[in-house]
Amino acid sequence: MSKLAARTGALALVSTVVGGALLQLLLPVFGASPLAWGLWSMAIMPASLGAGVLTAIFVHWAIGRRMNQVANFVEDRVQGGDLHRLPRMGGDEIGRTADAVNKLFANMTSLRVDMIDQERELLATQEELTLKAELAEKSLALEARLKERAVLFEVLRASVRDRDMGELLEDLADELVPALGLREFALLLAEDVDGERRFIVRAARGFADPTAVLGRSIASGEGVAGEVAERRRPIHVPDVSADPAYLSFWGQAPREGSFTAIPIESGDQLIGLLAMTRSSSERLAGETVRFLRAIADQVAMAIGRARMLSELSQLATHDELTGLPNRRILLRQLEIEEARAERFDHAFSVLAFDIDHFKDLNDREGHPTGDAALRELGRVLSAEVRKVDTVARVGGEEFVVLLPKTTLLEAGAVAEKLRLAVAQAPIPGGKGQAGGCLTVSVGVAQSRLGEASAETWSRADEALYAAKRAGRNRVYLAEHQEARPFVAS
Ligand code: GH3
Ligand code: MG
Ligand code: MG
Repeated sequence: MSKLAARTGALALVSTVVGGALLQLLLPVFGASPLAWGLWSMAIMPASLGAGVLTAIFVHWAIGRRMNQVANFVEDRVQGGDLHRLPRMGGDEIGRTADAVNKLFANMTSLRVDMIDQERELLATQEELTLKAELAEKSLALEARLKERAVLFEVLRASVRDRDMGELLEDLADELVPALGLREFALLLAEDVDGERRFIVRAARGFADPTAVLGRSIASGEGVAGEVAERRRPIHVPDVSADPAYLSFWGQAPREGSFTAIPIESGDQLIGLLAMTRSSSERLAGETVRFLRAIADQVAMAIGRARMLSELSQLATHDELTGLPNRRILLRQLEIEEARAERFDHAFSVLAFDIDHFKDLNDREGHPTGDAALRELGRVLSAEVRKVDTVARVGGEEFVVLLPKTTLLEAGAVAEKLRLAVAQAPIPGGKGQAGGCLTVSVGVAQSRLGEASAETWSRADEALYAAKRAGRNRVYLAEHQEARPFVAS
């Protein structure tokens, strides 16, 4: 039984009792007998009870049951609900209310479905946005890595081009400055200066006057770069204005922005430093430092390769013992002089030297002293001639001096000067030689028009043998048919 039906039944019961009692009070007015009054009062109670119960049953059947259904339904739906609907309840107010409740819940259901859809869409959009952001971040990182690889590749390319060290360092500077977005850049190489290891600027970019920086040097421990040399670890100064240790490239760079110095190492050897500035004051990510170290490694390999090439070329073209040009370079120089002599119509001369009784020196003093004597002789000859002249070692104890734009008589004078210089020089083992000093015999020949330079050299050799035959320690000039001794005028 619904509460509504119970209350309406109670109301019907009370009203029937009150109505019956009132009517009972009026019974005497209408002249009713006491018997009727008694019967009436006995009938009032069951009638009221009956009216109350009937009313309650009717209200429950007609209204309360359905209202209960509507209320339970709404309560259920409010607590979570489902897709059930109220059954049709007729066309009266309760039926219309049930229909309205059904419509309301139908709307709520579709609203909830919409909300779920929208939530799902929102989640998907959010996921998409997160993915897009991650993708953008990854692409940026990838782009940066690709750029780094490209820089490393360019440095590698620069390092395998066959050039001398100077050109290589210039190329490296040209590659690195734009690629790394640098303001100033200096490449310093470790070199021994008067027994002290110093780091000398061999390439510079970004300075108003590069000559004010090129060739300048720092010692290990001097300034920030010096500290890098000492500790052999990269150092980055995010804001140079706040670091008094920063030397600002001897005052040639502004005291603002950031500075980074990286050691250039080959194996366990420190061969140089990279010093660079950027306009902005910024910190460097660990990854960037690793990249700069990779660049420094690449630069080290490039420098090592250039050094090896220069050593190989030195070995191929120069005599190992004396460091003088060898026969190959002499032949090339002879060819060049031959062409020049023809073009400009002037002569060059060739001096052929051979040490006198060198075997004696070797036998007496030993081979190492003989080697020292050869080295010293090469030094004396080189010191006595002009820069344009070529002094070459062409055999064991045979030397040739090529004198461009020089006549036979001028060359004879040079040969005589050299012969005397050798005799007077304190050459190892020289004192034990016959005459108390090391001596040389010299043959001199002047180029002739249309003659191959090798032929000129051959004539100088013939004059040398004439000098030997004539007693050694003298200069002979190659004349038309035979050689004659040089006589100083
Ligand atoms: P001459 O006056 O006739 O030229 O007599 P010589 O002893 O100089 O002539 P020879 O050609 O008989 O001897 C040349 C010597 O030079 C023989 C060799 O022991 C020596 N010699 C050649 N190359 C070297 C070298 O690289 N080092 C040393 N220590 N000696 C060398
Ligand atoms: Mg000889
Ligand atoms: Mg000799």
